[in-house]
Amino acid sequence: MIPVKKNEVYKIEISGMTHEGQGVGRIDNFTIFVDGPIKGEEVEIKIIEVKKSYAVGKLIKILKASPERVEPPCKVYHRCGGCSLQHMSAEAALKFKTDVVTENIRRIGGLKDVVIHDTIGMENPFNYRNKAQYPVGMQKGEMVVGFYAKRSHDIVNSPVCIIQHSDSDKAKLIVKRFLEENKISIYDETTGKGLVRHIMTRIGFNTGELMVVLVLNGSSLPKQDKLVKMLTEEMPQIKSIVLNVNTAKTNVILGSKNIVIYGDDSITDYIGKFKFNISPLSFFQVNPVQTEVLYNKALEYAGLTGEETVFDLYCGIGTISLFLSEKAKKVYGVEVVEDAIRDAKENAKLNGVNNVEFIVGEAERIIPDMYSKGIKADVVVVDPPRKGCDEVLLETLVNMSPKRIVYVSCNPSTLARDLAFLSEKGFEVLEVQPVDMFPWSSHVECVVLMSRL
Ligand code: SAH
Repeated sequence: MIPVKKNEVYKIEISGMTHEGQGVGRIDNFTIFVDGPIKGEEVEIKIIEVKKSYAVGKLIKILKASPERVEPPCKVYHRCGGCSLQHMSAEAALKFKTDVVTENIRRIGGLKDVVIHDTIGMENPFNYRNKAQYPVGMQKGEMVVGFYAKRSHDIVNSPVCIIQHSDSDKAKLIVKRFLEENKISIYDETTGKGLVRHIMTRIGFNTGELMVVLVLNGSSLPKQDKLVKMLTEEMPQIKSIVLNVNTAKTNVILGSKNIVIYGDDSITDYIGKFKFNISPLSFFQVNPVQTEVLYNKALEYAGLTGEETVFDLYCGIGTISLFLSEKAKKVYGVEVVEDAIRDAKENAKLNGVNNVEFIVGEAERIIPDMYSKGIKADVVVVDPPRKGCDEVLLETLVNMSPKRIVYVSCNPSTLARDLAFLSEKGFEVLEVQPVDMFPWSSHVECVVLMSRL
């Protein structure tokens, strides 16, 4: 028997939280998920959805607040889908992330004795993003620019965002003014008509260079010279203005064609001492400050002396490979996306690095192949996507038996699964260091050190 009914109001105590930051409570042992409350709080909720094994409630009133509750720093937090932990203090949000990692490694992974450090947060967890993608739309005859609401494509209109660089917000508002003053049509997702879809900005945090991209359902922008003038007069740091053509009916933001209407086709930035070219489509970590913290930790864990052959698997544009190259004899970077490998090769050249070789392909195919040809690594770094590493790859690493494996992960649950696998087959998990790459979201990145037994 399901003990709750849709649209009824209940009082519950929040006994836990999901990894996404939702509150979890129980009524007669039946699980209820609620957006908004913090563990330990007593709340009044209204049931909005009932399933076989759980229900979803909407927070109506907080009856007993947690000492960790704070007033969210953003005014549109409760509507916007961008952040999920702004109702917690910064310290509580970091502790939440450490707890998520601990729970995964200890319970799912069964690794009871591993040292798990406190999550490394940012000194200033605001305005940290170097890339913004603002959807543009019309609501009741008014132009709106902001971010999508939670689980929807409604746009929450907001002039500022606490996690974006202030230059991004400023550029966005100039573009919005241009579009309004010149009555440029706005794309409508439902009909596929209208011109302007998104405004994207990218900033080099260490160079100050700014790129502004208008994503269009078309290949030209009326009165583009006026836009160039407005942007460059008010923001001389702009190095590049680009029209990106995306005429497909899709949720994918960018199309493949770029038309430069001012300046260069890319901007540059540094992570540590390494320089990178960033074009509209290239992948680049969005939090450059914490990226450096993460990479330095990975480098420290790699424990290189200059004599090692190192594999950097899932290398993207080769950022970690470059960090490792200074202290290694030879680095092989492996990545499945061809464009990323092209960027990686260019980045190596740009930085005069010549002991790195980049190979395009799936790590689970390339590494067994290299191993069969006698190419082995002393140290392996992996940084897979959310689904974790393929078991064929892990098997091969077990057979290859490098001295150390450094695992960089954006998903604690697949991390726990892969660590459990490796620890059963001859590797000891020594330390786990969570790093907060995305303050105010529930995401957490980890660097893990494993050593051959
Ligand atoms: N290490 C990089 C990128 C990590 S993101 C950085 O720090 O910037 C994970 C990367 O894995 C993505 O670039 C993705 O394209 C790549 N990838 C996904 N599946 C892969 C596979 N099977 N083999 C190799 N690379 C893969």
